[in-house]
This record gives sequence, structure tokens and C-alpha cells, in this order.
Amino acid sequence: MRALRLQEWKSEPELVEVPEPTPGPGQVVVRVGAAGACHSDLHLMHDFEAGSMPWNPPFTLGHENAGWVHALGDGVTGLTVGQPVAVYGPWGCGVCARCRVGVDPYCENPAGAPVPSGGGGLGLDGGMADYELVPDARHVVPLPDGLDPVDAAPLTDAGLTPYHAIRRSWHRLAPGSTAVVIGVGGLGHVGVQILKATTAARVVAVDTRADALQLAEECGADLTVPSGGDAVEQIRRATGGRGADLVLDFVGADATLRLGAAVARTVSDLTIVGIGGGTLPVSFFSVPYEMSVATTYWGSRPELVEVLDLGARGLVRPKTTRFGLDEALTAYHRMRDGTLEGRAVIVP
Ligand code: NAD
Ligand code: ZN
Repeated sequence: MRALRLQEWKSEPELVEVPEPTPGPGQVVVRVGAAGACHSDLHLMHDFEAGSMPWNPPFTLGHENAGWVHALGDGVTGLTVGQPVAVYGPWGCGVCARCRVGVDPYCENPAGAPVPSGGGGLGLDGGMADYELVPDARHVVPLPDGLDPVDAAPLTDAGLTPYHAIRRSWHRLAPGSTAVVIGVGGLGHVGVQILKATTAARVVAVDTRADALQLAEECGADLTVPSGGDAVEQIRRATGGRGADLVLDFVGADATLRLGAAVARTVSDLTIVGIGGGTLPVSFFSVPYEMSVATTYWGSRPELVEVLDLGARGLVRPKTTRFGLDEALTAYHRMRDGTLEGRAVIVP
């Protein structure tokens, strides 16, 4: 079968022939319907090096996948061949306190996971291939009626990651509140939709690109603000001077972290999702009182079920552009150059 493999750090992936996987006991092979292209893959190609992660290439890219059950290993029950499924991407040890409640991203026994702090497309072979081997059937989540794999794939990361980041701040997002989304790309545009579908917050979207702000408006943003310039003043004004109850930074650069802290309200959450390599200096008078800063990594398995429900009911609908496996590099180049709207999905 074909697979788009990252062969080494600081390189672009290559489309190569590899053997088709066969499932061992408890495992599942999924025929890939779609694999989303994530900006994290660009970090894997260009920013990471030996020692950045507890694993190394080579492996097949694609950590945002959905498709159909193709083959079941011995002992797997409750799934049938041909059934449409999403793949839950973070693969923990399965037995620690966190994995037991479906929070694999924060697995406390990484040495017991297939690879520490990774999954398919992140240290192990992922979904940018004709088939993906899922090492434990618990990661295979049946799709609800009304959701096909191409629409479901982006929900497993571009949907699940913002969903988790928003859900943990639901208590701040009552009527009268404001949420700011910085970076309206693959994750951010779904984040805007999730805020609109699950909270009463007024949503302000920030990006450097006019196209992205246009997409934010289509996704229901109440106000769009170009990054830089007088963004801080515009957002402060829009909140009656108070600031935002939640800032979601889907970029994570110095400039966006600074912006986030400058527009956050007293008693608020500044949640960093983007892996832009920036830092936020914090001292007593430099940030709002009781502004909590957190990074978040992906989301839980129960949250994936909730996101898929939002998708099946049409409340959250990622904007996707399809590419073949042989066009995957084009998709990544367009992401790098800022000429993609929403999410690119690779359809093998
Ligand atoms: P993307 O390329 O699709 O979107 C990024 C958006 O940010 C683009 O619209 C871009 O124009 C905008 N942007 C860039 N610089 C900006 C600035 N200074 N101000 C405002 N907007 C700016 O990327 P994506 O796939 O949505 O991923 C976003 C980030 O989240 C990446 O760093 C990725 O690695 C990270 N990520 C984190 C997790 C996690 O679990 N924490 C999961 C997935 C992705
Ligand atoms: Zn990702």
C-alpha cells in the first residue's frame, strides 16, 4: 500500500510503498477514508529534531483519521468490518488512572504506551496511507449516523483539541462573556463553531489573513479583528473595556501570547494550544489578576464522542479541501504559505 512517511527530522515526507498491516490480537486495521493535515505535521518536518520528542522517524504521518473497519484482530468484539469509524489519536498505556477515564493525552505511564506521548502519525504509523493499524480497539470510535469519514476525520483533532480547550472553560462562558480565538486555521475555525454551538459567549476572531477572518465570520464569529495594529484596543472596546473571559491561542507565538494577556479579563483563562514556540513573561503587575494560563494537549475519548455528535447534527462542520495522497505535499505547502482555508484532508 501507499504511505506518506516522515523518514527523518528536518525533511519533507515521502510517498512510498509499504506492506499492508495485519491486526494482532485486540487490534484493528482501518481502511482510511480521510486523514487531516495538521500544522503540527509542519512542526514535525521543520522544527523538531532528535530529542524534541520521546520518539523518532521513520513513521507514516496522519494523526487525524477516520475510515471504515477493514480487519479485526482476535478477540475484538463490538465492531464489524465495513463499519464507519473515527480513530482516537492519542494512544496511552490504557491502564493508568488517566487512560482509564479516557484521557490518554495525559497518560501517567508513558513507558507502558505503544510510544510515549504519541500515537498514529506521532511516532507510530498514522493515517496518511491506504490502511492504518490501530494497536488497541478501544481507540476505534463508531461514527454516529449522518457523519461520513471525510467530515469526521478533522473532528478527531481540529475538532477535539479546541473542544477540550473550550469545555474546560465552559463555566466562564455565560451570557455576557467574551471568548477570543487567535488563529482561525484548521483548529481555530472549528473552535469558533464550537464556541457558538456550546456557549453563549460573544466570539471575537483574530488572524493575520483576511481569508481566515472571512471564514471566521462564516463560522459565526461576532467580530473579526486583524492581528497586530490596534487589535488590543478593538477587543477591549468590544468588551466594554473588561476584556475576554477566555482567550484561545491557536498560534502560540510571542506576539499572540502578548496579545492574549493584553485582552484577557481579570479572572479569566488564557489557553495556549498553538505550538508556535513563544513565551509569555509573567510578573505580578504584568498580567490580569487571576488570569490562569494553561497549555492543553488534544482531548479525551468521551469528548471525542461529544464532538462527533456535534458533527453528526450539523452544529459543527469543518471546512475541508480534499487532496489525494500524491498531492499531500501540496496541501502542506499551502498550509505553510497561508493559502489554505480551514482544514486540508488527504483522501487516499
Ligand atoms: P493552521 O496553519 O491551519 O492555522 C494557523 C492559523 O493561525 C492561520 O490561519 C494563520 O494565518 C494564523 N496565524 C499565524 N500567525 C498569526 C498571528 N501572529 N496572529 C494571528 N493569527 C496568526 O494550523 P492548525 O493546524 O490550526 O494548528 C494551529 C497550531 O496548533 C499549530 O501550532 C499546531 O501545531 C497546534 N496544535 C496543537 C494541538 C494541541 O493539542 N495542543 C493539536 C493540534 C495542533
Ligand atoms: Zn494535530
